[in-house]
Amino acid sequence: ATPTAIMVGTGLGAESGILIKGGETLELAHKVQTVVFDKTGTLTLGRPEVTDVWSHPSAIFRKDKWLSLIASVEAQSEHPLAAAVVAYAKEQGSPLMSARNVEAVPGRGVKGMIEEFPVLIGNLSLLKESGLSLQPEVTAILDDFEASGKTAMIAAIGREVVGILAVSDPVKQDASSTVRELHAMGIDVWMVTGDNERTAQAVADQIGIANVMAGVLPGDKASKIQQLRGQGTVVAMVGDGINDAPALATADVGIAMGTGTDVALEAADIAIMHGSTLGVVDAIRLSRATIRKIR
Ligand code: ADP
Ligand code: MG
Repeated sequence: ATPTAIMVGTGLGAESGILIKGGETLELAHKVQTVVFDKTGTLTLGRPEVTDVWSHPSAIFRKDKWLSLIASVEAQSEHPLAAAVVAYAKEQGSPLMSARNVEAVPGRGVKGMIEEFPVLIGNLSLLKESGLSLQPEVTAILDDFEASGKTAMIAAIGREVVGILAVSDPVKQDASSTVRELHAMGIDVWMVTGDNERTAQAVADQIGIANVMAGVLPGDKASKIQQLRGQGTVVAMVGDGINDAPALATADVGIAMGTGTDVALEAADIAIMHGSTLGVVDAIRLSRATIRKIR
């Protein structure tokens, strides 16, 4: 493209809240054949809220007591899910206690000690990794929450499952129309997430995304992008979080949500300042139009 066409394109983008770093990006974006979206905070609002709590009938503590212990461990985690648990506990009037040896297990959950009790909260892999297992009745409850698109966190105290907390993170209003438009433009759409398969699939179904990579550990998003590129397709990655940054840098075109973390914005080639996923459609359209003008 001529420098003038690039300048015009970049300017038009900026007017509609799409910041494009450099002319090469604008030229490359028209070739994108595959768009991979991060789930949490990109397709969803990224403001998870606790919607359901199931308490094990034979738990060693009553619900308000175990909630206190769990929230006290989560209070030392920076994960958005942790914030949801802490907010819920406060709402319920459950006091926070002091937790020791709190350790975040990336992509799985957190564990720590309160008084003489080991406390953990997270997904099934965290539970298994810690040598705990789920009774079939508990698994059934977990399955139900996940089938409805909620993220279910298992809480265990003193090596016994005490309950399950389900969290919902609503899908952004424009997510489905974004996917529809991308499909109409001949582009394949994927979703990548650290969340479990069933929750991820339920959310993808709501939005109309057919290709899902779930249970991807924070360090593995970039290699998933590299795999797709290895199949010869030009890939755009759209994300908002710290753990999306390597994937944004690995993609042919990295697109960050302006509502996300600075680390993601720095790693990206394009920033969508208004946070609507439709910005992805606009950016690719703009690039196509810019290239067309000069041919
Ligand atoms: P995402 O890609 O959706 O942001 P992560 O990779 O950060 O997800 O986490 C994956 C999964 O690990 C979560 O869906 C949750 O089940 C579990 N998990 C991670 N951190 C926590 C936490 N602080 N409390 C409870 N569960 C957690
Ligand atoms: Mg995210």
